[in-house]
Amino acid sequence: MPNGRTLPREEIGENVPRKVSDLIDNGYWNREMIHECFSPWEAEQIMKIPVSKYALEDRWAWKHTKNGDFTVRSAYFVELKARSNQEASTSNDKPSVLWQNVWTTNTPPKMRNLGWKALHDVVPVRGNLARRGMEIDAYCPLCGEEVETVMHAMVYCREVQPVWYLSPLRLEVGSTKYASFMDWCCELLKIKGSKEWWSIFWSLLWGIWLRRNAWVFKRRKLEIAVVIRRAMNTVSEFEFASERRVIERDNSSKPEQVWQTPGCGTYKVNSDAACFEDGSYGIGGIMRDHEGDVMVAMCDRTQGNGDPEVAEALAARQALSIAIDAGLRNLVLEMDCIKLVRHLKQQKMERTLIE
Ligand SMILES: [Zn+2]
Repeated sequence: MPNGRTLPREEIGENVPRKVSDLIDNGYWNREMIHECFSPWEAEQIMKIPVSKYALEDRWAWKHTKNGDFTVRSAYFVELKARSNQEASTSNDKPSVLWQNVWTTNTPPKMRNLGWKALHDVVPVRGNLARRGMEIDAYCPLCGEEVETVMHAMVYCREVQPVWYLSPLRLEVGSTKYASFMDWCCELLKIKGSKEWWSIFWSLLWGIWLRRNAWVFKRRKLEIAVVIRRAMNTVSEFEFASERRVIERDNSSKPEQVWQTPGCGTYKVNSDAACFEDGSYGIGGIMRDHEGDVMVAMCDRTQGNGDPEVAEALAARQALSIAIDAGLRNLVLEMDCIKLVRHLKQQKMERTLIE
């Protein structure tokens, strides 16, 4: 049959022609006979197949090649496809690593539950509720621009992207579109392995969900900086007990760059920037105190000409000016653009774009 369905012989009656050519009459399907022998759906499918104008003999055909001839190569691909389908539908290593990851992080059970739900796409976001038949506006309550899927509510919404970017995880989301939260996490799993990293991840996810609910149910819009600060505080409370163990851990393992708190009475400003394909700049900054608490955070997108150093300079400038406007003094600036750091240390004017 056209869709690859095979009719079991038992389903075909006794007094039925056994060859396809028996169903053809002078170059046309014998409609009467077909309707007599097959169900209406089958008859319809059969009669959709164009009949050859040449009176050809019946022959066996292999449906996995265009010309109907069997080849070992095509059989190999059929087998390969069948196996990969089987693997996808049964056990899969990545999700099991993710489950483990969710359940073993230093986060409260409510956060782990949300992580599990997000991975299974069962968070009650509006898109999911509408899909289940609830009469509800499926669009995102925060931005109103797209259907509220798990990925939109937790990651892609323009109200949410800065949370990931301005958090210590520095995740730039939005440039690559993942079909599901699971797909995104599987991708992150390739690059981010530490337990601490994932604790922050799940804690931020929880904060994003609470922020969304505060807006939906109480019309309260929490500041992004507050969401990040609370998420970080939760993680540090949970990690406090194991802190000693983390410090005493074998240092021979892969060194990981850890953000260091500034001295008492000073504030650290971390700025960063990204250049987008159209040349515009994404800039962000976060200011934290000696305990690591977020005081102010900002992110913005501005026009530009695709120069990464200029973008970095703009990010640093805007972050510093916001920190100063917020009344913070004794600032330490930290960024990952060595060229700009050198330039700033020289403290002299040069004829460059970042002058
Ligand atoms: Zn949105």
